Amino acid sequence: MIVVFRVQVFEKSANLSDCTNKAMSCNYADGLSDYQNKGILGVPEIFDDAETVEEKCEQLAKWILGSKHVVIHTGAGISTSAGIPDFRGPKGVWTLEKKGEKPSVNVAFDEAKPTKTHMGLKALVEAGFVKYVISQNIDGLHLRSGLGRKYLAELHGNMFIEQCLKCRRQYVRSKPAPTVGKKLTGELCRGTKNSRACRGGNLIDNILDWEHDLPESDLDLAFMHSTLADLNVCLGTTLQIVPSGNLPLRNKRYGGKLVICNLQPTKHDKKADLKISTYVDTIIEKVAKRLGVEIPAYTKEVDPTKAEPCSLEWTIPTEEVKSLDKHYSKTVREWSKNRKKGGCREEEADEFEFKSKKFKKEKAESNDQDATTVVETEAEVKSEQTDVEVE
Ligand SMILES: [Zn+2]
Repeated sequence: MIVVFRVQVFEKSANLSDCTNKAMSCNYADGLSDYQNKGILGVPEIFDDAETVEEKCEQLAKWILGSKHVVIHTGAGISTSAGIPDFRGPKGVWTLEKKGEKPSVNVAFDEAKPTKTHMGLKALVEAGFVKYVISQNIDGLHLRSGLGRKYLAELHGNMFIEQCLKCRRQYVRSKPAPTVGKKLTGELCRGTKNSRACRGGNLIDNILDWEHDLPESDLDLAFMHSTLADLNVCLGTTLQIVPSGNLPLRNKRYGGKLVICNLQPTKHDKKADLKISTYVDTIIEKVAKRLGVEIPAYTKEVDPTKAEPCSLEWTIPTEEVKSLDKHYSKTVREWSKNRKKGGCREEEADEFEFKSKKFKKEKAESNDQDATTVVETEAEVKSEQTDVEVE
């Protein structure tokens, strides 16, 4: 069967604001401003057969073993087994919103626990198999798995983080923020064990709305890691949101590989060196086992939101961005030189002068609207992938 993707545009229904007062996925969705183009919704999920899954996981484990710079890109699909609905799946928040419905599975965010995938990624990072994780998720489950800030870019924010308007520092909260869209939470800058609070700094939530710029340090690190990666692996995302959804392609021009693990078809399936269609928890479990990495169970002890007092700082140090920028510029310059020696026609002169400003300009040019976080239009998606074979 051939299914042609269609972008479904709709108005937000009037009866969608009847969530409970707990911080749940539907509250988050309701808290966002109206945004018409939610992308391709509700496409049927595909499952590889058991034997194919084994073969593909074997292949992925081999590639991870043979790679030096593995970067993982995560989306809502890695949190569905924690009881948090995704957005564009058959039972996703936006898919159901279109029908005037709410997801039936919907756990409170602070009651959700990191999944096998979150815990597995943390273990793979600690074992040195994964260099960096880039997430579009705001559910805070990577943080709560104990994954260090050094290894994580959160492109759309995190509901367990507040940011000071005055000193720009970020802090971990014990509960999900009461607001969405970078609004005042009513809290004041609180400093940490080792550093004082600034005087009179008001804190805002760290959950981006559609029109917000992506956080600069997170985006810079994500952009550079995605380009430097010899292997980009996408887990549980249809890759429809830009710029996040295009980052995994950054390494292709230097011969890097792209692996997509998702139940639904994604925008970049045709560019993938490997597509695995089964539950991400199954994939991570199989791959970790082959790599000899044990996946720890989640405990409150590893979760900074459960620490007492909850006082961890979550700011990305400027030096971290600068240091990677140095390595990035040097490496990409060498790669470009080597490719030129080989007589390749170059398209990446721009690589020499990468700065986030330039990237932002590129983003702005590629977007049909002013919003920074956007879903691509039907025409854009079709130009990438006209017909998608579902079965
Ligand atoms: Zn402050």
